[in-house]
Amino acid sequence: MHTDPGSTFDNNLRRFVTETREKGAYPVLFNSIVRRNFPPEGATENKGSYEKEGNILVDTHGEYLISPRKVAEEMGVPFVDLNKLTHDLVVGMGVEKSKELFMWVPAGKYDFCPKGKVDNTHLNIYGGKVVAGIAIEAVAKVVPELVPYIRYRDPEVYVADYKDNKECAVSYTFDDGLQEHYTLVFPEMEKVGFKGTFWVCGNTIENEVARQGKSRMTWPQMKEMSDKGHEISNHSWSHANLKHLNSDGVKMEIEKNDSIIGAMIGKKPLTFCYPFNAFDEVILRQASEGRVATRTRQHGVGGDKSKSTVESLDKWVKELMIAGDWGVAMIHGISTGYDAFTYPDILWEHFRRVKNQEDNIWVGTFREVAAYVKERKNVQLDIVKKKSQWVVTPRLSLDKELFDEPLTMVLDKKGREKVKVSQNGKSLLVKDRDDKLTFDFNPYGGAIKISFLTK
Ligand SMILES: [Zn+2]
Repeated sequence: MHTDPGSTFDNNLRRFVTETREKGAYPVLFNSIVRRNFPPEGATENKGSYEKEGNILVDTHGEYLISPRKVAEEMGVPFVDLNKLTHDLVVGMGVEKSKELFMWVPAGKYDFCPKGKVDNTHLNIYGGKVVAGIAIEAVAKVVPELVPYIRYRDPEVYVADYKDNKECAVSYTFDDGLQEHYTLVFPEMEKVGFKGTFWVCGNTIENEVARQGKSRMTWPQMKEMSDKGHEISNHSWSHANLKHLNSDGVKMEIEKNDSIIGAMIGKKPLTFCYPFNAFDEVILRQASEGRVATRTRQHGVGGDKSKSTVESLDKWVKELMIAGDWGVAMIHGISTGYDAFTYPDILWEHFRRVKNQEDNIWVGTFREVAAYVKERKNVQLDIVKKKSQWVVTPRLSLDKELFDEPLTMVLDKKGREKVKVSQNGKSLLVKDRDDKLTFDFNPYGGAIKISFLTK
């Protein structure tokens, strides 16, 4: 719907403010970020992109920038002039460098866009991060109550979103302990070096009737997988819908399965998967106790129901990469059974394709990725920068028995090729990739010394 500043656009903003307040939340109004519009000298209209650009950033929003400020004043809402802040950012970066913030696609770089693309309106991931940083600082100025909740990321040294600074993460999780997960999936995953997560119900392994005529994995098979680094975890004792049980029933379903897996595999499950993906707030709290995480979102991968093809899985992974997200695949049948693949080869071909992009995709078990992400969200870095040495002290107050994944730190290289890193006197392996240096560290391990050696 088209709205005009000074009338319908302003009314719409008033409506947002009122409805937000009615829901008990606190609105903040912003105006729009700036467009990267550098018309050549003498140009009379704004075209958005130009063969040859000029030097002066010219506004394209007009009156739309004024309305949010006006409505904010009128209704007593905090206001952020994000247009001015991003205007100053783009001008500060200059005509050439400011392209880095927007969705410019160079010609010939990507298969999906061979001719390239000029886009001066939409931010890319980098631009999104820069502008979000500016926006949050500005919000904190007008709503000081938010200050304690803001985490700053130093652009020169920070914890990577995912292990080894990869762009996204994928966990392959297999439900219900089916025999094919051992006979077909396990060898195929081993071929490409991926480790999976297998959710099993003890009762369906132990009890002929509970097996419902489906072949299931045996405990020795699962032990063999676990010894190779795969995760054998808890899917409840009898695949009961936990929402139909009282809290004692839920407790029994969870604990009985923990015990048998612990006894048969030698490792207590540290994650949990809800049968039928059925849970509520109370069940979630109960199942999460003493655990790294439970599976609360998943992407169905298979045939009958999920209709996965090699191409649809490619697209899923591409979207994860663009969003910097963690994808959790939920897989049941392989060649037969619930949601089995049209051809199992679809999954194996998908594995090979992901393997080929291993530099950008972290394939980890559900436990590993969940632990990493929670540690990364909670760790705080105290950073002291001196000329030839930085000292970065991580602080993390999670249960270190549960959350024991090393984190990856990223260093902006900026001509600092020769870097030595040590934590607690132990030297850490520094990897060099593109314009970044990375190293793994122990988030509970105390101060990290980063020394820059002059040539
Ligand atoms: Zn299940």
